[in-house]
Order: sequence, then C-alpha cells, then structure tokens
Amino acid sequence: MGLTSRASNLAAKAIVPKVMATYRELLAQTRREIDEISTLEAHERLEAPDGTVFVDVREPDEWEEGHIPGAIYTGRGRLEQRIEGLVPDKSRPLVVYCSAGNRSVFASKTLEELGYLNVVSLAGGFSDWKRNGYEITIPRALSPDQRARYSRHLLIPEVGEEGQQRLLDARVLLVGAGGLGSPASLYLAAAGVGTLGIVDADVVDESNLQRQIVHSTERLGEPKVASAKRTLEALNPDVNVVPFEERLTSENVDRILGEGWDVIVDGADNFPTRYLVNDASVWSGIPVVHGSIFRFEGQVTVFKPHQGPCYRCLFPQPPPPELAPSCAEGGVLGVLPGIVGSLQANEALKLILDRGDSLAGRLLLFDALGTTLDEVSVRRNPDCPVCGDNPTITEYIDYIEFCSTPVEL
Ligand code: ZN
Repeated sequence: MGLTSRASNLAAKAIVPKVMATYRELLAQTRREIDEISTLEAHERLEAPDGTVFVDVREPDEWEEGHIPGAIYTGRGRLEQRIEGLVPDKSRPLVVYCSAGNRSVFASKTLEELGYLNVVSLAGGFSDWKRNGYEITIPRALSPDQRARYSRHLLIPEVGEEGQQRLLDARVLLVGAGGLGSPASLYLAAAGVGTLGIVDADVVDESNLQRQIVHSTERLGEPKVASAKRTLEALNPDVNVVPFEERLTSENVDRILGEGWDVIVDGADNFPTRYLVNDASVWSGIPVVHGSIFRFEGQVTVFKPHQGPCYRCLFPQPPPPELAPSCAEGGVLGVLPGIVGSLQANEALKLILDRGDSLAGRLLLFDALGTTLDEVSVRRNPDCPVCGDNPTITEYIDYIEFCSTPVEL
C-alpha cells in the first residue's frame, strides 16, 4: 500500500508540467459547457431584483476586501458543502463570481452537477465589476485586538463575529449606577456592548461600596456616572459611556430615551423612577430588563412592550405611601445585587443577540438565604393603564418619593 501510493505520487509529480498545460484546455472546455454573463447584465439583475443570488467563490481575504452587495460567501473550497444549506431552492438563479472569472467557471460547472438549474458565471469577475465602478460592500471585520479580546465569544456559534459586531453596535441605557447597575454595566462593558448610557444623580458614598463594585474607595464623593465611566472605559476601550448626571424625571425622560437605545437595564431603587421607566419604555417601544432587590430576595424579568406584560400590568399603581415598605427596613446582602444585576446583563445580551428565551412573561425570584430560584409566569393585562387596550395613563406621572432619604439599594 505504502509503496503503491509512493509510486503513484512519483507518477503524479512526473506529469505536473502536463497538468499545468491542460489547465487552460480544461478551463476552455468547461467554459464552453456553462453560461456566462457580462458585468453589465449582472449589474442589471442586481438593480432589478429577480431572486438572483450572487455566489462569491473567492478566498476569505478577497471577500473581506469587498464583494458584490447582497452576495453570499461560500468560497470555492467549501462550495459543495455549503451551497445547499445557503440556497436550498435549486431553481433559483445563481450568478457565480470570483476575481477574474476563471474559478467561477469551474464552480458553475460544479453547481450544475449538484442540480442547480439556472447558473451563470460572471465573465471578468469582481475585478471587472469594480472597473465598471459598480457598488461594492466592504464587510466590517474585527481588529486583531478585538479578535483577541472577544475570542471566547467568537468560539460560541450563537455569538460569533456577527454577534460580536451586534454587541459593539448596541446601545444599552442603565438606569442607576448602584447595586444592580454595577455588575450589569461591568459585564456589558466587558462583553463589548459599544455604548452604555448611565443615568444617576448621586455621588459615591461610603455605604455604597459594600456592593456597588463599579466604584471604589478613591472615588468617594465623585459623581457615580463619572466614576462608572472611568471604571468601564478602563475595562474596555471599545466602550463609550454616555453619562447622564441627573435623576430621571418626567422632564428629562423623553430627551434621555430619545437618544436611541436598544435595551434599558432598570436598576432603579425607587417607585417613581420605576414607573417613569416603564411608561416611557412602553411609549418608545424599548424593552426593559427589570431587576429589584430587598434584603435576601431578588427579582428579575423582561418587559417587552406590547409583546409581554409591562410593570403596570403587574402593579398598575404604586402602593400608597402608608403601605409602602418602611425605608428603615431596607438593607441588602452585598452579593445579592451582584447576582441579580448579572442576570440582568445576561438578559440584555440575549435581547441584543436575539438568542435564547428572554424572561418576558416570566418573573424570576431568587432567594439568597435558601439559595433557590423560582419562576412565576406573568401575563399582559388587557386592562393595563399603559399598555392595555384602552390606556388611561397617557402622560408621565411624577409620583411622590416615599422616603425623604430613600435607602438606596
Ligand atoms: Zn402593561
């Protein structure tokens, strides 16, 4: 066996010049067996979409330098393997192209052999296309630094390069840079969420540091948004933190939400803000990842406007001040916001990536003392005053703060 294969290798090497000589013959012969179109005709088909699929069979580096808009990439090497997954309908017209129009000749022949009925090769290839000044798409690629930084994301098919680009393009607004906002913002920044808005009017206080890990002792007295911005941008220079050093009110909520956000992570510690965030998000159609904590208990859910319940579907109005939990009863185990805020970051990433099952319609209850995680389903209320069929609340309401000095969670 070994001797035979060595002998045939030698024989193959001996006829190399002959193989090179017949490449042109083979190309010419194959070219006669397939159909070609000019770049002009191909461009017309691109301009007037008729279901034609452009198939790029070049090398990955050629693709990354630019390709025909809307083309699919298979590469010549994996064409047979990938094409049926990418274009299952074998009657769909295909325009196959490479750089000069030679590799595409062989690729077209292969596609016909695979049963594709309407295949043409682009004569002159992508070079001719570019010479004619036709439009091209240059795919964005991650920089070498980004490839290294996000390598563990690139290894997961559910994220990959495309997902990482989505994260880098994403804009998340965090309401509060406190207990929940700290872990949420740290993980979102580390994951490469490109823009993080943070709304918080407070300064870093000593009593915050037991749980608010985005701040530090040296930042005491500093505005929380400034402190968080420094921490997050030091963690990941890809992240741009947009600080809003103000308390969310009916006056500024439209301006702040109007800056365009994909997801809101609500880490508010008080009812007035929670209701404002809810009403504004329903009216602007932005999903909210809601989290709340009290002593040893945490809750997380996702409010997707008009697809799942909103906060008011669950709690139409804030409790009257006399029934609200006394502020003196506050307090929280330091690690609890770390757990709940991380769950919020997880939901935000899934919403951006459009992967997995979100917590919309499900309220997750975490008990730190018993270490249990329970789930209750929550439904949209057709009588909800904000997202229901006949809404009764159509303007922002500034509820009165229940505590003169709110205990911040
Ligand atoms: Zn509702």
